[in-house]
Amino acid sequence: MQDTTTLDFEFEAHPNPVSDGDRAAVLANPGFGKVFTDHMAVIKYSADKGWHDAKILPRGPIQVDPATAVLHYAQEIFEGLKAYRLPDGGVSLFRADENARRFRESAERMAMAPLPDALFLDSIRELVRIDQKWIPEIEGGSLYLRPFMFASEVFLGVKPASEYLYMVIASPAGAYFKGGAPSVTLWVSEHYTRAAPGGTGAAKCGGNYAASLVAQKEAIDQGCDQVVFLDAVENRYVEELGGMNVMFVMDDGSIVTPPLGGTILPGITRDSLITLARSQGIEVREERYSIDQWKADAQSGKLREAFACGTAAVLTPIGKVRGRGYEFMIGNGGPGILTEKLRGELGGIQRGTAPDPHGWVERL
Ligand code: PMP
Repeated sequence: MQDTTTLDFEFEAHPNPVSDGDRAAVLANPGFGKVFTDHMAVIKYSADKGWHDAKILPRGPIQVDPATAVLHYAQEIFEGLKAYRLPDGGVSLFRADENARRFRESAERMAMAPLPDALFLDSIRELVRIDQKWIPEIEGGSLYLRPFMFASEVFLGVKPASEYLYMVIASPAGAYFKGGAPSVTLWVSEHYTRAAPGGTGAAKCGGNYAASLVAQKEAIDQGCDQVVFLDAVENRYVEELGGMNVMFVMDDGSIVTPPLGGTILPGITRDSLITLARSQGIEVREERYSIDQWKADAQSGKLREAFACGTAAVLTPIGKVRGRGYEFMIGNGGPGILTEKLRGELGGIQRGTAPDPHGWVERL
């Protein structure tokens, strides 16, 4: 059963917060992941005390002993979600309960103490309420929230740690793509895979990203934007990109997307788009799709559009795909009609400019 522990957060205000003028300058052009708000949330866990010491503190460095377990065995997980400014000045969170659940499931996979969903959600709400003036008011702006947790026990034995530190930091983010999403070119990694059956592919753990960087670097070296991973067993079926799920739009208007089999991250954007599409009568098939089929369908015109989806960029059109010795284009290489339609619909729900029929938005 899910642990329903709640705690009161002690608040220590930043003694020297960023001035209104400096913050306004940052928020005009925040970029991504470079600047941070004044505060951070912290909760400690130890096997004997359980979850304790919930605090909102001035953001700042933390001290770790050189023998801290995470530095050696990488017992670490994280999440990524956004808070948005609503047209009436309120603040919204999009499906944060799903991030809480995924965080708990990631913890379980990494043999870490699962943080109760209520504590995850309260930590996010408290931090966003306190630092909400950091939400950029520019078009496409949001406050990116980064909850994470690591093994903080000082011990070199190879075993699940008995102490963890959970934290949330927040970073104002601009529009991922200015003036609409351009299409990206993907590189199909032949040599590197992301996750094998039984591995950690469905968990949002730092190690998955560390392992993907060499493939992402190969993609950049090949003049591409993002890497696409194939399955680790047959090296044939499309799995996902370095940091996004992938969807295909066929000429009959249906959508195909790789199934959740434990080797890809169960994206919340992916799940939301499947629900959104199905509720409009669009057929969505969660089934395996091979790179050879992708090539053939793109060339025959059976494949009309392809896009990547995730919290950071919402929907990103895929224009071109390249691998060793081949290259093919999707449609005319530009953003597709259904891609743009779904992108607008999801963005509207998140930002409170469209109705929320599925109850996905929480007002703070
Ligand atoms: N796959 C990977 C590997 C990711 O890092 C992400 C981003 N969290 C996603 C898919 C998309 O997940 P979500 O829609 O929940 O952001």
